[in-house]
Amino acid sequence: MIIDCHGHYTTAPAELQKYRDGQIAGLKDSANVPAKANLKISDDQIRASLEGAQLKLQRERGTDLTIFSPRASAMAHHIGNETTSQHWTQACNDLIKRVCDLYPENFVGVCQLPQSPGVAPANSAAELERCVKDLGFIGCNLNPDPSGGHWTSPPLTDRHWYPLYEKMVELDVPAMVHVSSSCNPNFHATGAHYINADTTAFMQFITGDLFKDFPTIKFIIPHGGGAVPYHWGRYRGLAQDMKRPLLPDMMRNNVFFDTCVYHQPGIDLLFKVVPHENILFGSEMVGAVRGIDPETGNYYDDTKRYIEALPLSDAQRQKIYEGNAMRAYPLLATRLAAKRG
Ligand SMILES: [Zn+2]
Repeated sequence: MIIDCHGHYTTAPAELQKYRDGQIAGLKDSANVPAKANLKISDDQIRASLEGAQLKLQRERGTDLTIFSPRASAMAHHIGNETTSQHWTQACNDLIKRVCDLYPENFVGVCQLPQSPGVAPANSAAELERCVKDLGFIGCNLNPDPSGGHWTSPPLTDRHWYPLYEKMVELDVPAMVHVSSSCNPNFHATGAHYINADTTAFMQFITGDLFKDFPTIKFIIPHGGGAVPYHWGRYRGLAQDMKRPLLPDMMRNNVFFDTCVYHQPGIDLLFKVVPHENILFGSEMVGAVRGIDPETGNYYDDTKRYIEALPLSDAQRQKIYEGNAMRAYPLLATRLAAKRG
């Protein structure tokens, strides 16, 4: 089975964005605030939004199941206040649930969290619990920077985040560390802010004692771990100077990278330096980079081709495609068994 750990609903029907636009407009005119979403989206609209996109790509590329979450760049936790974020988040998560119900073989859900700058992460715990217990989701996307590029929250290893981590551990679900759009013009969202955040999270994990306090908690750092594999020697050296654990020991059961790296040399390097036990297959389709690489004639985000080109044994490849995802998402096996009923 080939599990793509990183997919977003970037092709949701226009009604979703229309609700969001109304919500944002309502921030200026409180008489006009759309309350909770009451989206009129039919099952056929959802089918149409996926058939020519994620489902088509799954079939063409030969992947089986996508761990699917709301569009990350649209989370935009910096917009409005906590209530704005709560309503928007619930609407997005409810739509993911409908996708998973329509295509139980193809998708399993991961939720957005109703974060908001300056609001305690504990306040996201209830939505996480609803998504896991009521909607059958298996993880969440955690934004380390709800301010959208101004980094006003404490590091991920700070106790500030602990109440949410306690809920993650209780529910046995991981978080993908995933920022959203940037409202800081210095940082292009997908080209700079995303990769900065991935790299930043890894360095925070090196310096903090998070995994002593939460031995079973799990994080996925997307986009191939940001700049980390390329600078693996730097991080090893820094950890050594600071008398911190060896990187493979720090990562072992707690930190995973995906394969959303859009060229062969990048994937080759990832597999050369990062323990294979900590790599999950992912493509982020349909996502940040949608074009075709003129050098290969293939889509940049057709990451399965790069994995196929690696000199891996069948057993090693099986871990990347399935086995490691089962470890990173402890509820996945149960959910799959339930689907097969
Ligand atoms: Zn993503």
